[in-house]
Amino acid sequence: MLFDPKPKVKREDIFDREEELKKVMDSIKNYPITLILGIRRVGKSSVLRVALNESDAIGIYIDARKLYMNVSGWITKDELKRELESALLNLKPKILKSLQSYFNLAKFSIKGFELSFREKSLADILENLNEFGEDRNKLIVLAFDEAQYLRFYGTKGGREFLALVAHAYDNLPNIHFVLTGSEIGLLHDFLGFENYEALLFGRIYNEITIEPFTREKSIEFLKKGFDEANLKVSEWELKKAVDVLDGIPGWLVEYGFHYLHSNDPQKALEYTMKKARQSILEELKELERRSKRYTLILKAVALGFNRWEKIKEYLETHSGRITNARFSSLLKNLERMSWIKSELKDGKKVYSMTDPVIERVLRE
Ligand code: ADP
Ligand code: MG
Repeated sequence: MLFDPKPKVKREDIFDREEELKKVMDSIKNYPITLILGIRRVGKSSVLRVALNESDAIGIYIDARKLYMNVSGWITKDELKRELESALLNLKPKILKSLQSYFNLAKFSIKGFELSFREKSLADILENLNEFGEDRNKLIVLAFDEAQYLRFYGTKGGREFLALVAHAYDNLPNIHFVLTGSEIGLLHDFLGFENYEALLFGRIYNEITIEPFTREKSIEFLKKGFDEANLKVSEWELKKAVDVLDGIPGWLVEYGFHYLHSNDPQKALEYTMKKARQSILEELKELERRSKRYTLILKAVALGFNRWEKIKEYLETHSGRITNARFSSLLKNLERMSWIKSELKDGKKVYSMTDPVIERVLRE
């Protein structure tokens, strides 16, 4: 169902994205590392999961954000292993059964759904998986959703994770990685492909960006979702919803979902904005733990202050003086986390919000 608010896993539940799916599936096959980038709620997890389902490769899906949320402080090796175990247990029993001998574990019971890697290193586990892949002539795809959270793996800013990826890249040809990220600059900085001091420097990777739907596509998407539910909704209503919600599938699905339950377009839009407000406030709370000033800066940009000086002025009227260096670093961080974007106009940087719904919520 198109208006199901969970990430999609089956092709028939996903609207459009033919091109993106093809790109991801080709990339999974041909590149050792694939990045899927795009702002929150644009559909990265959905495209990833459908691609893993459709591909010939054996896909192993791990949600790095969930992994991070489950721990206090650092993600440990044992936690990552546990996540990997449960991801493997989601594989088809037939594959799991034939994997068994490769792991060479004393404790491996498929019937009781038990699999314990306690005595194995992660590098060993990857080597076993690679060997299995070689014998079966299959690629093993390790997919880490919201991979920027893996910078919290171990105590060295995620270096041990990157070392693992580098090891697999150099030695385990049947293992490929897919990493998604909503915080695009952060993910790039973490992986460090362009940083000659970083572990993954110079490695080959392919990048696919998922963009929001165009206005036409957004309207078509809503229409198709309502058709699916046998509901007639006037073109005018759809346009009005898209005026407010723009082309981010996550918000459009929310709207469709509420419409189906309330049968009232006005209410559905109100609910959607209310839900949006809640999620955005949650996300801002996470940001504010790092600096209270982030929200004020975002508010300034949402209100239309789009130049460095103007945003700084707004911030200083609301929270006191700040040094240029400190302010620049906060602004840059918001851009790295994809809350805002910048472009050059007449040689000067102009800032704007990446998500029009967040912009609307912050303007209230
Ligand atoms: P992301 O991983 O980028 O944050 P998700 O894949 O979780 O985004 O998608 C956000 C929401 O939008 C989910 O409810 C998902 O079902 C829906 N969605 C995203 N893309 C599509 C699509 N192409 N067709 C239908 N629903 C989609
Ligand atoms: Mg996601």
